[in-house]
Amino acid sequence: MRPARYAPLPCCMYCLAAGMPRSEEHLIPQALGGRLTLRDAVCESCRRITGRYEQATLDREFLVPKTLLALKRRRARGKGPSRLPAVTLAGDDAPCTPTADDFPRTFSLAAFEPAGLLSGLDRSSAPPQADFVACRLNLGTPRRQTVAASTPLADPHAYATSIAKWAYALAVAQRGLDCCDTQPMRDLLLGRRHDVFAFVGAPSPRAGASREWLHDFALREHGSWLTVSLALFACAGMTPFEVVIGRLSAPAA
Ligand SMILES: [Zn+2]
Repeated sequence: MRPARYAPLPCCMYCLAAGMPRSEEHLIPQALGGRLTLRDAVCESCRRITGRYEQATLDREFLVPKTLLALKRRRARGKGPSRLPAVTLAGDDAPCTPTADDFPRTFSLAAFEPAGLLSGLDRSSAPPQADFVACRLNLGTPRRQTVAASTPLADPHAYATSIAKWAYALAVAQRGLDCCDTQPMRDLLLGRRHDVFAFVGAPSPRAGASREWLHDFALREHGSWLTVSLALFACAGMTPFEVVIGRLSAPAA
């Protein structure tokens, strides 16, 4: 992702409260290779709420790419790998603990149909069908090629809400807290509403991503909506998400 510096925020980006101590927020988690941060961005209470589903998602759906990036960082520091997590490889029934050389470079990430607010379909009850996209991160030269088994999405809500959180942080970094009506998105991220698939899905119409960067994003004005097209693991072949951030205010008459 292109480097940039962002000004500190005047209040918490989730509850908008000012005056209490706030900590920085990564736009994309450091564990996924994100290096950009927003300063003074999140109060302790909101950090606890949003950190819970994000950490669960990083430890589950993003376990393989997260571990590959950690292995790359350790190699760059000249240190050997510490204990690696167990993963189930394609064709196996039970998880095993591969070595650093055997750790799978090929994994899958879930994608969904376009967000309900963009497609006009009601996504408030059941989560839409997940579509697993095969991704491959070419880091290092493994002695043996192994492939992580595609796992059913244990918690589609937490996974999609984490993607919404990262997209929201990118929108705030680029356009500030006044970028659009952020109330519904902030309610979603703080667990006050549960229709995440109204907000998160594939780009509509479907679009590919440049494979130049690990992650990339672009803000779009999609009718009356501000959206973020978020290409996570674009260089690994993952298809982008499009996240509705909120309704753009009507142009002044
Ligand atoms: Zn807060």
